[in-house]
Amino acid sequence: MNIVRVVLDVPVDYCFDYLAPDATLADTGRRVLVPFGNRRLVGVVLDIATTSDMRPEKLKSVLRIFRDTPALDDHIRVVFAFCADYYHHPIGEVVMNALPPGLRRAKPVFGRNGPEFMVDVFELTVAGHAIDIASLPTRAVVKRRLIAALQSRGALRQHEIATLSDRAPRLLKELVTAGCVARKQIPATGTGTGTDAMDATRPPLLTGEQRHALDAVIADADRFAVTLLHGVTGSGKTEIYLHLVADVLSRGRQALVLVPEINLTPQLEATFRARFPTTPQVSLHSHLAEGERVNHYLAAQGGHARIVLGTRLAVFTPLPRLGLIVVDEEHDSSFKQQEGLRYSARDVAIYRAKQLGIPVLLGSATPSLESYHNATTGRYRLIRLDSRAVPDAALPTVRLVTTTRKIHDGVSPAVVEGLRQRLDRGEQSLVFINRRGYAPVLLCGQCGWTSDCPRCSARLTLHTAKDRAVQRLRCHHCGLEAPPPASCPDCGNAELRGVGQGTQRVEARLTHEFPAARILRVDRDTASSKASLQGFIDRVHGDDVDILVGTQMLAKGHDFPKLTLVAVINADASLYSADFRAEEKLFAQLMQVAGRAGRAGLPGEVLVQTAFADHPLFAALQRHEFAAFADAQLRLRREHHFPPFTHQALLRVESVNAEAARDFTQRAAALAQPLSDRVQVFDAVPAPLARLAGRSRWQLLAQCASRGRLQPFLRQWRNELEALAARDVRWAIDVDPLEL
Ligand code: ADP
Ligand code: ZN
Ligand code: ZN
Repeated sequence: MNIVRVVLDVPVDYCFDYLAPDATLADTGRRVLVPFGNRRLVGVVLDIATTSDMRPEKLKSVLRIFRDTPALDDHIRVVFAFCADYYHHPIGEVVMNALPPGLRRAKPVFGRNGPEFMVDVFELTVAGHAIDIASLPTRAVVKRRLIAALQSRGALRQHEIATLSDRAPRLLKELVTAGCVARKQIPATGTGTGTDAMDATRPPLLTGEQRHALDAVIADADRFAVTLLHGVTGSGKTEIYLHLVADVLSRGRQALVLVPEINLTPQLEATFRARFPTTPQVSLHSHLAEGERVNHYLAAQGGHARIVLGTRLAVFTPLPRLGLIVVDEEHDSSFKQQEGLRYSARDVAIYRAKQLGIPVLLGSATPSLESYHNATTGRYRLIRLDSRAVPDAALPTVRLVTTTRKIHDGVSPAVVEGLRQRLDRGEQSLVFINRRGYAPVLLCGQCGWTSDCPRCSARLTLHTAKDRAVQRLRCHHCGLEAPPPASCPDCGNAELRGVGQGTQRVEARLTHEFPAARILRVDRDTASSKASLQGFIDRVHGDDVDILVGTQMLAKGHDFPKLTLVAVINADASLYSADFRAEEKLFAQLMQVAGRAGRAGLPGEVLVQTAFADHPLFAALQRHEFAAFADAQLRLRREHHFPPFTHQALLRVESVNAEAARDFTQRAAALAQPLSDRVQVFDAVPAPLARLAGRSRWQLLAQCASRGRLQPFLRQWRNELEALAARDVRWAIDVDPLEL
């Protein structure tokens, strides 16, 4: 008998056996279509066997083996098995969710169009590259924007151009006619444009620090080693990645570069494409069209794509010749998936590198304390870049501004003055406030009524519409929207006030202060799609913006040469939080956002508004002393038995029925006690957001000094929890949780 063991996207830990008379060993790792109950499902063959525990007459037959695409290789199947085991998640869900959606469909991938389709792109010709944006008239706003986009990002597709402005497509045509822009066709995989139009940009001469870092990593290029590249913002980490990738390519291998945010991919793609114009390169993230993503994935899996850039999901891409993994901004919490398989892409990357015996590079200006601890205790190699790479680009000066009564809509006179100076000098500023909307809550001053979400334990945020007259209340957790009440629902008072600041309020204030300034607000409401955010970024590069008002969307990774002032409006919110990681996150966020200032030789300044100017976090920030801050935090963590000195797992429980959620969590606590030799199990408690979209949420923390002891405990515990078979309750175990 020829039997295939198939995993399906169903929540169980085992494989399903099917008869497959014509299957061979080469079909291991292939996609198959099988009958399942009265449905037909796509699954993946994990094993081929000759016997089954099922009775032969009960076995059904595979309907189809998809041989049009390559099988998942042994290595990636080992990675899946590790994830299922370590994160205590059903293997079928691990495997199927790692495939691009186009490969989960019950049909072959390749139809009539063959394995690849072509797309049109537009890029600057030599004449186009020669255009000096500064010499264009200031009112040629869209033209400036368009050329800036093409210069900074290389080839663009039609739809990307359309996002720049309604007028951009027409201008593009004119530029084509004028011979400044050329249209051409490239494979959708983006594989090597391979043309004359663009020469590889010449790498700058490395600084001594960069050279040293590079040599150290290359010396160990063919064995497993984790290197933490701790380089201040603007120290030229990207340049090191580029050199390392060049080295990997020269040895005929593939490189995988992971970034935390989709928003960071276009710029990075352009950088890599400019340096390696003829090297096939693909990106992988969730904003790609389905066909495009499949093509990119297969180009990587087939070994054709030599450089693969992507967000966390790209860590599961099969790469037959993988020689290096880079995790940029390794501290970023976006590398951890917060639902389904709650994996950390950084940790999976390290696991992969270890299996393959290849180096992995973690880069950050503000490493996670976990990685930093590993690096300072010798488990990882630590390489530091202490100065900025561009000659004369010093780190910005950080000034604390004590919040006083003179503040209007959250903006202090010192910030207004700083902005005015930049406007006078024609430089750009960024006003950072990590709250969107107008005000975080609507309040009745008479009786204390607040705008609470009826479905969540959270406040409704006040938003203004475009014309400012219309207002809405919105829940940032469940999406509920309602008009604000005309008067207080409790006491009838008609004077309800929005309390606190969001991006809209700060924007309104600055528009009032500087009516002539070009102010651009960038938050999830204005930049809801990748395309619109990229359009905004192009406008900053095109010198089309004076003041940016935005959330953390702007804080990461971007390089805006003319930006010299960063003002942080409200840094205090997380200073005294219950979350033991709150300070680490705040410090990283402030360092990152401060790092946007003064990158290109113009001196940068950072103004931080705070009511707690003597908090040690700010002292470390002012001196750019990550190490001092990290060491102090790590001492506290050790004292209080927090990670990285213990390993944690969090049981997350939720239910529409509040009692069911509490009961289940309490029973889980009782079940854990007898199993928990040396594992510390805390009390069942409501989650910090105790109600979300009408569901009650509870949680239970388990921790242990040794990962090796925690894992078997979790395995047993999970078995017992499954046996509870509680109705109405959803639960999951979050291993190495980032949010408690
Ligand atoms: P990071 O990622 O460390 O914040 P980037 O890689 O963005 O820094 O580099 C910051 C700036 O320094 C970029 O504009 C980059 O082109 C420039 N740069 C990097 N290395 C060098 C070098 N060796 N000489 C001159 N400029 C450099
Ligand atoms: Zn009232
Ligand atoms: Zn809500």
